[in-house]
Amino acid sequence: MARYIFITGGVVSSLGKGLASAALGALLQARGFSVRLRKLDPYLNVDPGTMSPFEHGEVFVTNDGAETDLDLGHYERFTGVAARKTDSVSSGRVYSNVLEKERRGDYLGKTIQVIPHVTNEIKDWIAIGDDEVDFMLCEIGGTVGDIEGLPFFEAIRQFSQDRPRGQCVFMHLTLLPYLAASGELKTKPTQHSVKELRSIGLQPDVLVCRSEATIPEKERAKIALFCNVRPEAVIPAYDLKSIYEAPLAYHDVGLDQAVLDAFQISPAPKPELKVWEDVKDRITNTDGEVNVAIVGKYTQLEDAYKSIKEALVHGGMANRVKVNVSWVDAEVFDKGDAAPHLEGFHAILVPGGFGERGTEGKIKAAQFARERKVPYLGICLGMQMAVIEAARNTAKIKHAGSEEFDHEAGGKRFEPVVYHLKEWVQGNYTVTRQAGDDKGGTMRLGAYDATLKEGSRVAEVYGTTSIEERHRHRYEVDVKYRDKLEACGLTFSGMSPDGRLPEIVEWSDHPWFIGVQFHPELKSKPFEPHPLFADFIRAAVESSRLV
Ligand code: GLN
Repeated sequence: MARYIFITGGVVSSLGKGLASAALGALLQARGFSVRLRKLDPYLNVDPGTMSPFEHGEVFVTNDGAETDLDLGHYERFTGVAARKTDSVSSGRVYSNVLEKERRGDYLGKTIQVIPHVTNEIKDWIAIGDDEVDFMLCEIGGTVGDIEGLPFFEAIRQFSQDRPRGQCVFMHLTLLPYLAASGELKTKPTQHSVKELRSIGLQPDVLVCRSEATIPEKERAKIALFCNVRPEAVIPAYDLKSIYEAPLAYHDVGLDQAVLDAFQISPAPKPELKVWEDVKDRITNTDGEVNVAIVGKYTQLEDAYKSIKEALVHGGMANRVKVNVSWVDAEVFDKGDAAPHLEGFHAILVPGGFGERGTEGKIKAAQFARERKVPYLGICLGMQMAVIEAARNTAKIKHAGSEEFDHEAGGKRFEPVVYHLKEWVQGNYTVTRQAGDDKGGTMRLGAYDATLKEGSRVAEVYGTTSIEERHRHRYEVDVKYRDKLEACGLTFSGMSPDGRLPEIVEWSDHPWFIGVQFHPELKSKPFEPHPLFADFIRAAVESSRLV
């Protein structure tokens, strides 16, 4: 049976609950324990798949094909444990399961209520995989006091009562605002937040207090007294230069020790922190920098490309350089010239995206990179744009385009070099989709194998010819254009094992131009940078030397 750590937040959102959870997971691993992290989200969407990246940031895709909250990306990047479908659950999913059971008659005529039916459903989720790990870390999205969060708070309260004593620990994150005028840190919002928590029956064992200023011992003691928490379990959390310093920083202020103390695990195994020391060293001691342009659509909200941004940082770590990312809105040069916007960058990345807006600009970015020999990494839509560019400008298929855009416009303007995939093979099964299917979860999602061409650049980069990467898309490059495009020099260097779906393309006579149909960024970790990102940044370093 696992021990459970429930992580909640108060005062304000965006305190870094996900990061604190991930860092704690990494620290427990460093002490030899196995962990799994889980996110419980109060919103009513069944999953974040249909939420706009503008609103909710990136959708993180798991190996088993779930579209989840971006916090699961943090969890994976810090612990290396591959998240599963069952590690992300929203109110929408919970209610939809409960209602489905009600319709089926599973509740045998009972009146269906939040307590116990909804809370039981939540508890069942929490307990999935209970016997697989030493610690299960469950983060509750939102802040205490939110109306929609209540069933989750109630469920974790019940859960801790259902378990033997001492098996569950509650960790609460709050903010200590600093009033510059009086030069004071204020503890009242934290006190109120804990009061709110206690009013629903939850007493935090560990308090993590975000603060811009150093928390004096006196204030720490005061928080402990008023919030009924031990002084050594009041953990300060200061701003960090890099999120990857979090495990060491939290260890230094005693977070993992406080948690283990709360479980009365004594003596606690000593932590082995070499991995994180190396990570910190690679971020701190860099030699040079490179400038990378991300040419996309959701450039106002950096969280929309969270994993890509992190994977670029990891690529920098692999090469010991600092990576400066500039967000370039593709729409700006949809009709104009891309060159003034892209000149001077050492590498260009075109990320994934949906819809037609900005795609002409992305196609121009691919053309610019090809012609000017700038390293280019095209991810998902970024690969499709590179193929369309090649088709239009080298294979002379004048109206090459994607069915995605015709579908939106409701006309037939393009020759579908990229088409709507309606049937594909997953393991032993054939998956089929109809054009009018629901938007939720109808894509090619999750991990799929690909076979790489012997002697290609990607085979060299990966150091193997068989890989597995995560997908999230509806459209696909049509293999029937392969011969035509290869004759122009665009090699189809990665294919699905059955040879039907192009997975990777690369320009053979280019210093570094690779398009991938999948999302390599989702698997990159600071202690294990993804080979494509590591080599992309290596190429960027080379291109920076040419200037
Ligand atoms: N919109 C494209 C598709 O569905 C690309 C998706 C993506 O970039 N993730 O195929």
